[in-house]
Amino acid sequence: MTVDKGLLIVLSGPSGVGKGTVRKAVFDNPDTDFKYSISMTTREKREGEVDGVDYFFKSHEEFEKLIEQDKFIEYAEYVGNYYGTPVDFVRETLENGHDVFLEIEVEGAKQVRDRFPEALFIFLAPPSIAHLESRLIGRGTDSQEVINHRVQEAKRELELMNLYDYVVINDSVDEACRKIHSIVEASHLRRSRV
Ligand code: 5GP
Repeated sequence: MTVDKGLLIVLSGPSGVGKGTVRKAVFDNPDTDFKYSISMTTREKREGEVDGVDYFFKSHEEFEKLIEQDKFIEYAEYVGNYYGTPVDFVRETLENGHDVFLEIEVEGAKQVRDRFPEALFIFLAPPSIAHLESRLIGRGTDSQEVINHRVQEAKRELELMNLYDYVVINDSVDEACRKIHSIVEASHLRRSRV
């Protein structure tokens, strides 16, 4: 038996569906042994966010330089800002046999599929669009204009869900976490078939 490389796990879905909340709950679980890949972004830091924990916050110039240097597995422009997954951390961590967990929007997930077709793709879906909109309003972090833009994006993103390996409906954070763990476990068992 050979030592396996880690599994690349991609959690994606529309903004406001609760990807961040589900991801935090997944990592609060002491049984979770995936490594979280911290993204880079040019968006403004929100209250309570910490550089190097929630994101690596970069200027537009810095981000574009990193694009030129091919430092991202994927990157996307989303509602006026860049977001991207740093390549070095992901490659090294997978090579060391650890699973890596990405929480990214759907354009980026498509790029990951091209570069890592063996990755595991999980789509987190809202129970409904109305549910998603009220969640974005309740979060209180975005203007109405940004919320409208995010809801438009979400409608487009929902059409892509059948490109994913699994769809998890986020009607309960605990249930969504449990399902993600089960999916990852099943994927490991599947990979280890001889
Ligand atoms: P937010 O501004 O709410 O933190 O994130 C906006 C969107 O960008 C969310 O859908 C989030 O999942 C996504 N996102 C976060 N990091 C990345 C990344 O590295 N790449 C891509 N493509 N999307 C990301």
